[in-house]
Amino acid sequence: MIAFEFARASNVADALRQISLSDGAKFIAGGTNMVDLLKMDVEHPSKLIDVSRLPLDKVEEAEGGGLRIGALVRNTQLAYHPLVQRNYPLLSSALLAGASQQLRNMATVGGNLLQRTRCAYFYDIATPCNKREPGSGCSAIGGFNRMNAILGTSDACIAVHPSDMCVALAVLEAKIHVASPCGERVIALGEFHRLPGDKPERDTNLDTDELVTSIELPPKGFATNHTYLKIRDRLSYAFALVSVAVGLELDRGTIGEARFALGGVAHRPWRNLEAEAALRGQPANEATFGRAADLVVREAKGFGHNDFKIDLARRAIIRALSQAARGTPQSQSNKKMA
Ligand SMILES: Cc1cc2nc3c(=O)[nH]c(=O)nc-3n(C[C@H](O)[C@H](O)[C@H](O)COP(=O)(O)OP(=O)(O)OC[C@H]3O[C@@H](n4cnc5c(N)ncnc54)[C@H](O)[C@@H]3O)c2cc1C
Ligand code: SF4
Repeated sequence: MIAFEFARASNVADALRQISLSDGAKFIAGGTNMVDLLKMDVEHPSKLIDVSRLPLDKVEEAEGGGLRIGALVRNTQLAYHPLVQRNYPLLSSALLAGASQQLRNMATVGGNLLQRTRCAYFYDIATPCNKREPGSGCSAIGGFNRMNAILGTSDACIAVHPSDMCVALAVLEAKIHVASPCGERVIALGEFHRLPGDKPERDTNLDTDELVTSIELPPKGFATNHTYLKIRDRLSYAFALVSVAVGLELDRGTIGEARFALGGVAHRPWRNLEAEAALRGQPANEATFGRAADLVVREAKGFGHNDFKIDLARRAIIRALSQAARGTPQSQSNKKMA
């Protein structure tokens, strides 16, 4: 039995006041990850501050275009919001590729950003894990690492960030608005999640007393040429082995703007700006997509059980870029794929 205090925050200021007064306090929103972490003895907060009833549950058009999404918006609400479906269908696809309907009904946008890795050793307190217990070692290196990372790894940790939503947010270049007892700040999605380095216990650059209040999407939504391709062991209710989010702008078959990000391969959504630059100004064909994919995977390193992910990532990138270029965001089994 782990003893901890529990309190419900009545507003944002109250949540920030409570977190500043208790060392080791944590926020809980939908609880779909936090409750598992408590049950498995991975998290030991001194206090849980329930933020699920804060008035941060709106999706609103932002000044100058774009969208402002409250941190307490549920994943289902966001995926089916008319403005998201119309202007950011990539985000809707990524959300609907995650978890199950019941989980999406509970899970919040803020909690999704901050969900912790699904590395099996992280959840098994009988095994060493540098993320759970710094300095204890990494059981996945040399262990069963089929789901683990191939990019951006360190000698301390090869975990992946499990979110689907965040892979789409990387392509959309979302900005994360946060508040703390010291004030407010905005963090670019690309700077929000960390690589493990020698501090794998830190998943993000958020401070322990900071609350995510909203996510801002810039106006560019790639509504015409986009795709979210998720490769997993079963068709639903499984985390990604490799996923790819793509947003393209095309002019008569030539690529203008190009962005893509990978999930399931690194400690954060993985973008390679050199590979994106290699797409711009080029014809939208398999040869172009293959060159971009090669630039991404040339940095990849397998750890035995997950070696297959390197080739899988290359082929998934080509397939996702092809789907986006054709304007067919979902896989089409009757068309030739890479
Ligand atoms: C069986 C299962 C399958 C799943 N499959 C997938 C999948 O395929 N793809 C996918 O993307 N996800 C998947 N998920 C994960 C799910 O999406 C997350 O658990 C969920 O998004 C977390 O949101 P929450 O509101 O429940 O967070 P909580 O569990 O309440 O919190 C998670 C973390 O976020 C912190 N937190 C929450 N809100 C805030 C805030 N506003 N500011 C600062 N910190 C905050 C908490 O302190 C905690 O550390 C799955 C989960 C389960 C249980
Ligand atoms: S990969 Fe990271 S989370 Fe998994 S066992 Fe190693 S240190 Fe822990």
